[in-house]
Amino acid sequence: MFIDPITWGAKYFYLDPNATHRGLFNPRLCKFLLPQMRAFADPRITRGVEMAGAQCGKTQKTLVCVFWALDQDAGPTMWVTPNEKFSKLFFDTRIRPSLDLCEPLRRRLPKRERSISKLHIDFSTGMFILANAGSTADLSGKPIRWLIIDEEKDFQPGRVEYALVRTRSKPDLKIWRMSTSKRYEDTIHLAFLGGTQDMWHLKCPRCGGYEVIRWKNFRYVAKGLLCESICLTCPAPIGVDEKNQPIVCGYEWHDTPEDRAYILDHGEYVSHNPGAPYPSWNYWGAIAPWIPWQSIGQDWLLAMEAKSKGDYEPFRRFTCDTINEPWEEQPADKTPEVIRFPYKISQYKAARFQGEAMRGMGIDVQQKDFRVVIRGFETNAASKLLAALPVATFEDLRALQIEYAIEDRFVFIDSAHQSEMVYAACVEYNWMAVIGSDEYNFNHPRKDLIGKTIGWVQKPFSAIRDVWSFKRGKNCRLITLATPRLKDITAFFRDSKASVNWEIPSDVPESYIRQVYNQYKVERINDRTKRLELVWPDRREDHYWDAEYFLTAMAIMAGIIKL
Ligand SMILES: [Zn+2]
Repeated sequence: MFIDPITWGAKYFYLDPNATHRGLFNPRLCKFLLPQMRAFADPRITRGVEMAGAQCGKTQKTLVCVFWALDQDAGPTMWVTPNEKFSKLFFDTRIRPSLDLCEPLRRRLPKRERSISKLHIDFSTGMFILANAGSTADLSGKPIRWLIIDEEKDFQPGRVEYALVRTRSKPDLKIWRMSTSKRYEDTIHLAFLGGTQDMWHLKCPRCGGYEVIRWKNFRYVAKGLLCESICLTCPAPIGVDEKNQPIVCGYEWHDTPEDRAYILDHGEYVSHNPGAPYPSWNYWGAIAPWIPWQSIGQDWLLAMEAKSKGDYEPFRRFTCDTINEPWEEQPADKTPEVIRFPYKISQYKAARFQGEAMRGMGIDVQQKDFRVVIRGFETNAASKLLAALPVATFEDLRALQIEYAIEDRFVFIDSAHQSEMVYAACVEYNWMAVIGSDEYNFNHPRKDLIGKTIGWVQKPFSAIRDVWSFKRGKNCRLITLATPRLKDITAFFRDSKASVNWEIPSDVPESYIRQVYNQYKVERINDRTKRLELVWPDRREDHYWDAEYFLTAMAIMAGIIKL
């Protein structure tokens, strides 16, 4: 009588002591692994590819399948691992403990103990071999019925291809490949792309949206390096606002047993490449109910911390192993993360968001119009982008300021161009005129109680001084900004190096992303010193970026960003 590997596993397969859950294999917890098990047992399918995150149960589940095969559909089985050390550890910690507990397979074990070694077991139904991908002798010339290629990302170059070619096949050979990916378009990623590309989609109870579970849709609250809370949000577009920008649903799933079960019960694989010649799957720990989301958030924060110190390895590992997105080699400074948060750009006009302590408006002045950024700050320096848009006239700027209920002293306007017009507006509306500079710091006197200067402190802006507006016949206030340092600080927040969020809304305009997230330092020879330096380049298209660094200066002056 035919019994499928899922039913078989639930009856006979005990998880080894290293597994998170002990006891019999439990199909209810691994709903996202069952299609792979069915495909493994389906005689019409000759190969399958799983590109999966770490700790998701891919090895465990394939071990159930192989044990099932050795009992129910036996034939020579070869499990190829990156090296002998891997094989031996795998045998001791995973295979042997489960084998000892598996009653049907124990009956098929050879009588003589020496027919069991760490690298092969001569079952009465067929040979099971643990092969080393680096060994030509291990791989060549064996007729194989079941070929498992495990963690091929760690194989030496060319060895995956070698294993596939040199394993002399029986007509009913089945090849199963499973691995995390190490880099974009490595062998497992290409194999995944060549298959059906099944990805786990989740149905939203609020909007009915059907979306892939991705790390970028998680939202967390960090306290220092601790992930205090984390949830998954629904990124499905549910309409457009008056500016024709998409609005997303934002429904939240939390790391509760109910929500984790919901993700299994209301999710399923959807092919992104239907009609491909073989099935392939992509899944990661957010779906596996035994991986706490907080631990994923924790990995992320530690990776960001290391990255801020110049160590990109934890970030690469997080990307490949944890969230299962193949790593693209790019100069790190050129690829800041763009994480959109689940709120809308028009959501907070006169109304403050929860925790908002200060709101500012930065204005970059162009030949024909203005570029405005409005950002709200919390006392801990977390902030939200509230508006980013072009504005035509000074009067429209004033109307926007009033619409967003921003105090006059928190409007900073660039005075490098159209200076006289800007000064006049600053007199009229009591705004602050600003101008950038190449200075990295300005010295400010530190005074004692009776006003005597007792030292100097460095700040990334000058003292406030008066400047004459001929048009209005009055002074306005002007401040000079230390542009390079303020851009450094702004990039620090933008690139998630700070412990607080620097948020942009889900429907942020593309022009903002282009101008703000494409800003990175470049190498340049200093004419005077003849040494290589990293500098912020001058570009034409960086209006929103300039407005953002004005706001950073404002938040420092207000004591919200502490240096
Ligand atoms: Zn939704």
